[in-house]
Amino acid sequence: MSEQKIRLATCSLAGCFGCHMSLLDIDERLFDLVELVEFNRTPLTDIKHCGPCDVGIVEGGVCNAENVHVLREFRKNCKVLVAIGACAINGGLPAMRNNIDLWDCFQEVYQYEGGLEGGQVPNDPELPLPFDKVHPIYEVVNVDYFLPGCPPSGEAIWQFLTDLLAGREPKLDYEMLHFD
Ligand code: SF4
Repeated sequence: MSEQKIRLATCSLAGCFGCHMSLLDIDERLFDLVELVEFNRTPLTDIKHCGPCDVGIVEGGVCNAENVHVLREFRKNCKVLVAIGACAINGGLPAMRNNIDLWDCFQEVYQYEGGLEGGQVPNDPELPLPFDKVHPIYEVVNVDYFLPGCPPSGEAIWQFLTDLLAGREPKLDYEMLHFD
C-alpha cells in the first residue's frame, strides 16, 4: 500500500515556522493525510535531505546560501513545488530588513539596542553566508503553486492539499484567501 502513497516533503527557509504550525492546524485530519501521503524530508520526520517526491511545500524566503542549496534540492526532487505563505511568495516579514544595511542590521541585533551586552556578531565559518536581501523563492527556482497568507489557515491548506492530492486543480474560496 505504502508505495502507492504520494510522497510529500516540506521545508522551512527564512520564515517563522508559522506556516508549518498552520499545517498542524488541520488537527485530526492529519490522520487522513498520512493515509494519503508518505512524508519525506520535513520537520515531522527529521529527514535532512529531500528524496524523489511528488509534492514539495516550501515555507520561507531565501536569506542565505544554505537556503539556496535546500531550495534547489527541493526543486530537483519534487515534481510539484508549492510556495506557502507570504515569506516564500514575496519575502514576507524577513524581507523587512531589505532596506537596511546588513551589517547595521547585525549590529543592531547583536551589539546595540536589545542586543547582548558586549555581544559580537557571530562569525563562525560554518554559519551560512547571509545575503544582503531576502528573496522570494520564485527568484531562485520555478514554482508551480502559490498559497498566500501569513500563515494560510489550516482550512486553506487542507482544501489546497486535498485538491492537489486528488489530481484536481487547487481552488480556494475567497473566504479562505481574504485577510481584511
Ligand atoms: Fe511565518 Fe507568516 Fe512567514 Fe508563514 S508567511 S513563515 S506564518 S511570517
